[in-house]
Amino acid sequence: MSYTMNVLEKVKKQNPNEPEFLQAVTETLVSLKPYVDSRPEYEKAGILERLCEPERVILFRVPWVDDSGKVHVNKGYRVQFNSAIGPYKGGLRFHPSVSLSIIKFLGFEQVLKNSLTGLPIGGGKGGSDFDPKGKSDREVMAFCQSFMTELYRHIGEDTDVPAGDIGVGEREIGILYGQYKRIVNSFSSVLTGKGLSYGGSLVRCEATGYGLVYLLDEMLRQHGNSIEDKTVVISGSGNVAIYAAEKVRQLGGKPVALSDSNGFVYDPEGIDISIVKEIKEKNRCRISEYTKYRKHAVYTEGRGIWSIKCDIALPCATQNELTEEDAKELVKNGCFAVCEGANMPSTPEAIHVFLQNKILYVPGKASNAGGVAVSALEMSQNAMRLAWPLEKADQKLKEIMTNIYNNIANTAKEVGQEDNFVVGANIAGFKKVADAMLRQGIV
Ligand code: NDP
Repeated sequence: MSYTMNVLEKVKKQNPNEPEFLQAVTETLVSLKPYVDSRPEYEKAGILERLCEPERVILFRVPWVDDSGKVHVNKGYRVQFNSAIGPYKGGLRFHPSVSLSIIKFLGFEQVLKNSLTGLPIGGGKGGSDFDPKGKSDREVMAFCQSFMTELYRHIGEDTDVPAGDIGVGEREIGILYGQYKRIVNSFSSVLTGKGLSYGGSLVRCEATGYGLVYLLDEMLRQHGNSIEDKTVVISGSGNVAIYAAEKVRQLGGKPVALSDSNGFVYDPEGIDISIVKEIKEKNRCRISEYTKYRKHAVYTEGRGIWSIKCDIALPCATQNELTEEDAKELVKNGCFAVCEGANMPSTPEAIHVFLQNKILYVPGKASNAGGVAVSALEMSQNAMRLAWPLEKADQKLKEIMTNIYNNIANTAKEVGQEDNFVVGANIAGFKKVADAMLRQGIV
């Protein structure tokens, strides 16, 4: 058996109860196989074994008291995956589905994603099975303060810099930051996604969604096409989905659908972003509310968003939300491009359908890297004690996403797999991390 497949078998044996983690590792190692197996220096230095094992896993108890005085205990996680090219960097996810497997898959993907940004950031991820939905502001504060009371000792501006993810937006980052500062008595860049009044960067809030569409735009341009007049279906209705939809609109495309975990809304005239912001960001309500504002829009309970006819699909909700059947439906309906805003939203079978049908498919580790890229820019601005104007931050984001596209497209071409951006992203992300690991000895 080849070196790569040997490592994969070992990882499967060692982590039998972590399906999402094994899914992410399998997808990556299978596509790295020809590249890695033809370079014996990687095997000699045990690069893959080390790449697949986090440097550190921190598990902790998060006790907090609800509004009725009842004590709750949630699980807290921080997985510090790989620091070969910079301090650990990656978001915190608060969602009831969070498990060690999910945090490890996200951390593993983050290592390669952060490498693709071209910035000096390693990979990590964290979170909790706490569900902020339906909690009062005081309960969210109680939870976040308790979470940080343990996390603070493991992070630092040169060690590990968390940010937001599902269930962790500006409100949560603000409270986490306040508690960190209170404990350590230091105003440092220990979290990103901060509010603009206390060290946040312009465009961070929009960065993942905007970055996704910048990369899509560049890919279409290089294929003699554009976003203009294209119908776009976007899943989710959180941070990534909202700003992806906004940028699609700005570039002349028409986003026609958004969703949440309850159902999806279809607006054939094009989603009105200001209404979505009001429903989701201001009122923290469900996407079904949209039809109260736009009478001709249709809300459907349950799955099914991928059956809407579109030219471009942008999955921006969560892992494994787009199945083989969904992929076949998209292809049948004429969809020609899929760029992932979420992490690992397409199942392996769905990816197979996209590649077989020559869909322009870009995996999340490349296409959703805009968020972490602007987070790294936030760290730079904090270190310099200055704040860039909007144009500069936005321009940087655009440059980074264009570079990522060129990097993954050129890498795919170099290995004879033109337009296979799965292979391109995995090899391009891996090369830089592996090279740093080779030079740093066996650590
Ligand atoms: P938010 O919490 O802002 O929004 C998440 C959205 O996805 C909500 O609409 C939510 O619906 C929906 N969703 C979550 N879980 C499920 C589920 N099991 N089934 C169906 N819908 C679901 O998160 P973000 O927008 O920040 O994150 C979305 C995705 O993008 C995630 O995969 C995240 O890892 C990825 N990402 C985020 C980055 C960022 O900067 N924020 C950076 C890079 C990637 P509901 O409200 O019903 O739960």
